Amino acid sequence: KDFWADVPEAPKDPILGITEKFLADSNPQKLNFGVGAYRDDDGKPVVLDCVREAERRIAGKNFMEYLPIGGLKAFCDESVKLAYGEDAKCIKENRVAAVQTLSGTGSCRLMADFMHRFAPNAKCFMPTPTWSNHHNIFRDGGVEIQGLRYYKEDTCSLDYDALLEDINNAPAGSFFLLHACAHNPTGVDPTPEQWKGISEAMLAKSHFAFFDMAYQGFASGDCERDGAAIKIFLDDGHNVACSQSYAKNMGLYGQRIGCFSIVCADEAQKVAVESQMKAIARPMYSNPPLHGAALVNTVLSDPQLKAQWFKEVKGMADRIIDMRGKLREHLEKEAPQRTWNHVTDQIGMFCFSGMTPEQVDKLAEEHSMYMTRNGRISMAGVTSGNVERLAKAMATVIA
Ligand code: PMP
Repeated sequence: KDFWADVPEAPKDPILGITEKFLADSNPQKLNFGVGAYRDDDGKPVVLDCVREAERRIAGKNFMEYLPIGGLKAFCDESVKLAYGEDAKCIKENRVAAVQTLSGTGSCRLMADFMHRFAPNAKCFMPTPTWSNHHNIFRDGGVEIQGLRYYKEDTCSLDYDALLEDINNAPAGSFFLLHACAHNPTGVDPTPEQWKGISEAMLAKSHFAFFDMAYQGFASGDCERDGAAIKIFLDDGHNVACSQSYAKNMGLYGQRIGCFSIVCADEAQKVAVESQMKAIARPMYSNPPLHGAALVNTVLSDPQLKAQWFKEVKGMADRIIDMRGKLREHLEKEAPQRTWNHVTDQIGMFCFSGMTPEQVDKLAEEHSMYMTRNGRISMAGVTSGNVERLAKAMATVIA
């Protein structure tokens, strides 16, 4: 018997499919602006010096045992301090439930599974558009998704009024997935004042906020500033949940290291919630991997290494901000029929350029430049050496 005869081929992942097309292109000048992984100004992947030093300190340690189900406790403690602030009341009161996860994706999946189990039938509102994998994660976790208006196409900026309207119109006690900073794919974040407005509107309706924070430090270059939305919510009295990833900000993509936490009402609730997070993790993957946790913990728990990391993450963010400026400059010269302020107004790894799918196809076919069909440019792939070429090609396809 052929058991799998009826298995159809799955649709290609919209982001990873770009890499396949890029690799198949024989043009030596080809450029990949698809995948969100940082590159230096020579287009090379980067290992941070603080990570190299942590690696050196860990090397030779005689420990390859399993971690507990919830991962490395010291890592989780450092991680929640980074997310909520060293002096956060919720940490002092020991009411943050946290487990180590398989990077940001694994954290989001734990949130979805947790919701499915303990808030069954609840829908999760998420921005339109959002990271495409959010849809897959919550669908597979058994959580129904509802769109949340977020982005205004004509100005490539935040549709604040529509966002607030959707928050106000949602049934009281609804769940919302929000990007803590560097919204993917639009690069459009609310201002601190707008976050305050969002927080107050959500509090008034007793909504729950789950922050996906995949880019802390990577947006502005300042971890504190990038975490500001969460602190605004905490100060207003929200008990939020948070997904953290060290893929981008520490360059640990393949190590799969992240943290999932829920701020609870009190310590007893924290104990219960954390035990249930582990109960979900145990049959899924038993326990998370050791190496990335040891690396991040080494960096975050040593003040000197941590300071060095802050400097290095700022270096990455600054290079991207610099490239935004250059890209805008070239676009204003090459394609003055449009405004390009959104290129520098947006923040984080991605520039939501406003190009149509057909224009993106033309960039690939005629210029060997690859990106997702929604016009999202990974700024991490833009360098001093290719920014002008990119702008010129964009000007040609939008003309
Ligand atoms: N959330 C968002 C918004 C992201 O952009 C990403 C990375 N593309 C992730 C989560 C998760 O990435 P990872 O699992 O590699 O940490």
